[in-house]
Amino acid sequence: MTRFRWGAVSDTGQVRSDNEDSSLVAPDRDLFVVADGMGGHQGGGVASSLAVTALREHYADRTTEALVEGVKLANRVVHDRAIDDPELRGMGTTLCAVALVESDGEELLAVVNVGDSRVYRLQGDELLQVSEDHSLVEQMVREGRLTHAEAASHPQRNIVTRALGIETALDVDWWEVLPTAGDRWLLCSDGLFGEVDDDRIASVLRRLDDPEDAARELVRLANDGGGRDNITVLVLDVVDDGDRAANASKALVGAGAAAGVGRPEPDVAGFGDAEPTTTNPVVGGADDDAEAPEAHGRRRRGRRHDGGAAQEPRSRRFTWRVALFSLLVLATLGAAAGAVGWYARNTYYVALNDDEVTIFQGRPDGVLWFDPTVAERTGIPSDDVPEAVVGDLEAGRDQATLEDAQRYVSNLEDQIEELEPEPTTTTTAPGPPPPTTAPTTPVTPTP
Ligand code: MN
Repeated sequence: MTRFRWGAVSDTGQVRSDNEDSSLVAPDRDLFVVADGMGGHQGGGVASSLAVTALREHYADRTTEALVEGVKLANRVVHDRAIDDPELRGMGTTLCAVALVESDGEELLAVVNVGDSRVYRLQGDELLQVSEDHSLVEQMVREGRLTHAEAASHPQRNIVTRALGIETALDVDWWEVLPTAGDRWLLCSDGLFGEVDDDRIASVLRRLDDPEDAARELVRLANDGGGRDNITVLVLDVVDDGDRAANASKALVGAGAAAGVGRPEPDVAGFGDAEPTTTNPVVGGADDDAEAPEAHGRRRRGRRHDGGAAQEPRSRRFTWRVALFSLLVLATLGAAAGAVGWYARNTYYVALNDDEVTIFQGRPDGVLWFDPTVAERTGIPSDDVPEAVVGDLEAGRDQATLEDAQRYVSNLEDQIEELEPEPTTTTTAPGPPPPTTAPTTPVTPTP
């Protein structure tokens, strides 16, 4: 029997007014989850707590496949709620989880991830990030356009390219790892690694034996570093693996490296992968997202990390499978672009454009190649905008919906009217000539 001990701490941080992160420790199912919600008007907090609760509820069997399916069901729950409740439109959440599962009578740790929360493993002295971020900057790093160091301080580092709640279909990354006594796992939201670099995280994890102490210390460091975001830290120790890892590594020595143990194995299910293997239990699994147009283009990522051989670069076996895999990557990027596009376009903001207050659809800086477009011109000249609001409008004032943006503009018009009691030359359509006598305002000129 694999046994754990753990400690979890979540904190609002120094800047935000609410904590929109959620975490879950379900020892009865050996399930550990961290989620980081996003979307204004408290939607983020709703999304992350809905997601972890739904995952707990829908995680039926102790299998990796059930865990992945549980995340997909949680996605539906968040998505449906976001559709039903206009206040929560556009909300979403990241989610990462570690669970003890069974496969062929063997216990494994299943890791799943969507978004830019992270799962790390400290093995011996080495801290490795097991999950892969679904973020704009991570994509740019993969494309060689940014270094890791640049990504860490990039202004758009918090843009995620995948999240729960945004679409009905969801691609879930998963890995399987042998539980090894002495291993320490870390699940955290970006509020931690945005403030504390990996070396310092590793040093705390090595230094403090008690998982709760370690979690608390990491949160303290993140707050010291600025605490610009909510911080959630879950430290999970494997205290007993029933000697399974020791036995397994003996077996691995016998099998040798030629078996390719630990090599990340892209799953090309849906394209007739000729080699479904037991290391990849999701192969051939039911695809409940079949209605999604990009279903065939989606790549499920499944890997198994064994011992220290994890995260070797995948370079061997350059065959048709690799070509096929490349095609799948392209298709996946296309699908991701669609999701990002939806995300990028499903919002409005009010800003100044050609000396006129204008409602835009999109996000002020755009996302990827999705530049904002003009949704409505208001006819309000920039010069009329009250001083106090100019800064806001220069930066672009976010609005969840077109109606919100219109409401904002009409408030702005009211403000302008209040500030200008005297009729001035009208700058809109040719109206009636300005009154020459008896202004309707109570202001009377003094001699
Ligand atoms: Mn965050």
